[in-house]
Amino acid sequence: MRPDTPAEHIAEAERLIRTATRYPEDQEPLLLQAAAHLELADERERASALYDRLLASEPDDPHLIKALQASNLWEYGHEAEARALIQGIRTAAPADPAPWEVIAEALENHDELTASEECFTQAATLLIPENAPLTRATTALLTGRHRVRRLLGRPHDDWDMVADTRHIGPIPLDELHDPKRIWALGSDDPAELRAEIARLRAELGDRRAALSRPFPVALLHWPERELAELLTSYPTLAAEYPSHAQHLEQIESSLRALAASGTTNLGIVTASVPSYEAFAASEKTSPASPSLLAEYATTLAARGKATPWPPSPTSPCWCTSGKPYPECHGEPQR
Ligand SMILES: [Zn+2]
Ligand SMILES: [Zn+2]
Repeated sequence: MRPDTPAEHIAEAERLIRTATRYPEDQEPLLLQAAAHLELADERERASALYDRLLASEPDDPHLIKALQASNLWEYGHEAEARALIQGIRTAAPADPAPWEVIAEALENHDELTASEECFTQAATLLIPENAPLTRATTALLTGRHRVRRLLGRPHDDWDMVADTRHIGPIPLDELHDPKRIWALGSDDPAELRAEIARLRAELGDRRAALSRPFPVALLHWPERELAELLTSYPTLAAEYPSHAQHLEQIESSLRALAASGTTNLGIVTASVPSYEAFAASEKTSPASPSLLAEYATTLAARGKATPWPPSPTSPCWCTSGKPYPECHGEPQR
């Protein structure tokens, strides 16, 4: 179930904050996710308090948290604080593309296009060495930079060409980012103008959502001995898991089906009987209840425990057989 209304976002944020109290070692991914839900509910002050709490706890990724905080603060009128945070990030020059993208988009959202372009260019200069392959995150920087430069009416440079070449999607980047679509259409048809702006904003919003919501959709993987122990202790769960081999096949085929339907950010979480029993106790539910399994998987994923799927072709299979993925569960004909 995906939260939709503000009340649902607040309820989900509160559930994640409670989970963070139980698992303080995983509070960073949990509270980041909670803050994203609070932002979506327009509870910006509460989101700010969470970002401050994270920043006070020596987080792994302080620059991303500061960037999200800057963007959030600016949305509810704290422009000076937001600008100070953005300046601090630019001076610190982090090696991760995500905080750069968040601050450049915050500037863009507030019509500071020149500063936004400078920010994207500073990040690209710092993080994209010549002849190094682009990652998804550095490609996103070039795409954002392309969009802002189109809005500014700048001619294409080499990086803009790269952004065009790397873009995948039904609409070419130059059309999507065409300032004429935005500015010229407006004089004739304000409704069309608004639709175009909404479209660009939606594209931005998707990226922001992906950045601030690191949670994968994760499936539960029981290693063989753990599954045997689980079914001995809770025979009612045998209906879910006819055999260990079938359990493994089911994981791979479900993930392939999700990927084929366009779901991104997929992962696998490894289950163990003691951690499952502790989770059941914390939820005041019997471990024998099959409905608890999905909640257990979601909570492990929310705690940042998921391994991304699919493994790279040179990696060992996720099932821990020791065989390379393409010769095990990654076999194409499976
Ligand atoms: Zn272009
Ligand atoms: Zn395997």
